[in-house]
Amino acid sequence: MISYRTRMGRQVRFQCILFAWCLPQVSHVPDFEDSDDLESLIPDAVRCYLENPPPLTIGTLMFEPTITLQQIHEYWMMHAIDQAQRAFEQDEVPVGAVVVHEDRVIGEGYNQRESLNDPTAHAEMIAITQAAEELKSWRLLNCTLYVTLEPCPMCAGAIVQSRIPRLVYGTMDPKGGACNSLYQITDDARLNHRVNVTADVHQLECQTLLKEFFAIQRAKGKK
Ligand SMILES: [Zn+2]
Repeated sequence: MISYRTRMGRQVRFQCILFAWCLPQVSHVPDFEDSDDLESLIPDAVRCYLENPPPLTIGTLMFEPTITLQQIHEYWMMHAIDQAQRAFEQDEVPVGAVVVHEDRVIGEGYNQRESLNDPTAHAEMIAITQAAEELKSWRLLNCTLYVTLEPCPMCAGAIVQSRIPRLVYGTMDPKGGACNSLYQITDDARLNHRVNVTADVHQLECQTLLKEFFAIQRAKGKK
């Protein structure tokens, strides 16, 4: 068993042998006698594994990371929840978002509609703008947007416009969601970009934060 700490800070453990299927896809073929070389293969191998789930073994070598795509989504969703928490503390509807590019957060934001008096200051819009500045491009290729609440029509439109390939959200918004609930803007064949959407990641945590917020607001007699 090999342990490896990814750039996300997560400790990953591997079975000690690698599948031959990944060998043509990695940057170099290591000398398997040499454990240092084997370790250097692992980041590429993880990416290959996640992007191309392994077919039947075609060789004698076996690779099996103990990390799953779902665990990666949960890890980054916790960052989005941290952002939502910041909104909560500032008396804003608690929605948070992060844009991740190659295991790195390049944009983050939380709802600031009230404090900025800006109807467009949704968490996703702020995170997307920051990410585009970081990449120096309006095309957010190879990025994943994590957001605690299903995006509204405006944000779903921004996701399509920025060509983000993958969206992961926490909880559905039956009254305003535009990626599943009311509209399916991110999966509309009439538009020139479609998004791979994953729902219900840390759903309970995201939903509870919103419920708590609105319960407090009702108690205050505000909303
Ligand atoms: Zn929005």
